[in-house]
Amino acid sequence: MPRACVVGTGPAGLAVADVLLAAGVPVDLVDEQPRAGGNIGRAMTDAALGPMRRRPELGGGRYRPGHPVLSVSPAREVVVRGPQRIERERFDAVFLCTGASDGQLPRPGLRQAGVKTAGALQALLKGQDVVPEGRVVIAGAGPFLHVVAADLARAGARVTDVVDRVAVIAYTGLLAKSRGLIGNLIEFVRTQAFLRTRGVKVRFATEVVEMGPSTLHLGGGKSLGFDVLGLSDWFAPQTQLARTAGCTIGYSQLGRYFRVECDAYGRAGVPGIFVAGEGQGVRGAIHAGLSGRLAAIAWLVDQGRPAPDATALLARREQVIGFAEKLEMIMYPAAREIDASAIACPCERVPVAAVREAVAFGLEDLNSIKSVTRCGMGNCQGRYCEPVVCRLLEAAGRRPRAPLNQKTLVRPIPVGMLADG
Ligand SMILES: Cc1cc2nc3c(=O)[nH]c(=O)nc-3n(C[C@H](O)[C@H](O)[C@H](O)COP(=O)(O)OP(=O)(O)OC[C@H]3O[C@@H](n4cnc5c(N)ncnc54)[C@H](O)[C@@H]3O)c2cc1C
Repeated sequence: MPRACVVGTGPAGLAVADVLLAAGVPVDLVDEQPRAGGNIGRAMTDAALGPMRRRPELGGGRYRPGHPVLSVSPAREVVVRGPQRIERERFDAVFLCTGASDGQLPRPGLRQAGVKTAGALQALLKGQDVVPEGRVVIAGAGPFLHVVAADLARAGARVTDVVDRVAVIAYTGLLAKSRGLIGNLIEFVRTQAFLRTRGVKVRFATEVVEMGPSTLHLGGGKSLGFDVLGLSDWFAPQTQLARTAGCTIGYSQLGRYFRVECDAYGRAGVPGIFVAGEGQGVRGAIHAGLSGRLAAIAWLVDQGRPAPDATALLARREQVIGFAEKLEMIMYPAAREIDASAIACPCERVPVAAVREAVAFGLEDLNSIKSVTRCGMGNCQGRYCEPVVCRLLEAAGRRPRAPLNQKTLVRPIPVGMLADG
């Protein structure tokens, strides 16, 4: 019996597992987080494990929470950090469902206590019931900010303001055109109404320019006090494992990030390796579930096994992608001017000015920029500075040419473990 490994237990990974387990394929379901559900459902542990719980008799695979996957080879060898040692295992198919991360544009004063990403505040709340104390401001760009503000307010946090770079008219235009996605419109309106009842001031079309200790300076000369700030300007796919596996990585002009180039089923250019969910491009939870189902179906078909019909899933996928791309258009307009003194790579403390200098010198691929500036050499291996460097290249009129190379390992581990593994 062929065996499959699914990396990531968000909506994409769980959808893959659901289809494969229904077809009788043993699945190893691996996630570095201690609880299943991915970024949207981290709190719904039991429901999220549905695929495994409903069909234990078809398993034979394993659910492995708290296990970071360190690399995946083109020959489908999956390297996992186990409790004591590094473990390696080869599978017949590997489904990479590793989601996205949110990040911040460099600004003067950004790297100080009390500033987190909005996603980090939400993860602390959902994963560990941490409710921030004092005045909480959520800022950056996109509908996600409003969701986080509402979640925090519901949990008892004193959220005072939401500062969103996107204009309300842009949202209205987008939502009016989102045929088949009326749920998004209803959710957005409901969230605004809720924030109003909690006295949260929502400022649309407003830019965060810089920050001092406990003060945000906004475009138009206004200032705002805060104790805790959740700031998120962008989302970008986590493609590090796809890079170690040799998948084709391409640049998205709309999202201003690198993503995995796949066919509509998530076939990622390497036999037996599929990418589902945000790795294909940041498109939201509905797309993640659809793409997970499609990837599992594609592998079953490739194996000559019976598989569910994919016609309706493919049509719905197109519709959802259309909406997500329009959202990226309004979230990421032409790159704005970034202050030269701000930090582009927080791990290595590389200033924006150093990256600009490298770009002015004529460098266009990120590995060359990394060599001369150290941008991307730190702990996060470029997850947070790559989208920033892409924006700096675009601001200089260049198109980012090649992504950062991803060597094994995609997560830091103790040297002793490496020696034993
Ligand atoms: C921080 C954040 C918060 C979000 N909150 C919301 C929200 O409240 N509402 C909403 O509608 N949308 C939210 N989104 C968007 C939503 O999460 C996505 O649209 C959807 O969850 C994508 O599903 P996915 O399965 O592709 O990835 P995810 O749900 O992100 O799941 C990916 C999983 O892969 C795991 N993983 C990644 N790398 C590795 C590795 N190397 N080894 C092992 N496991 C790994 C992660 O731990 C994670 O559990 C959020 C996105 C982010 C980044």
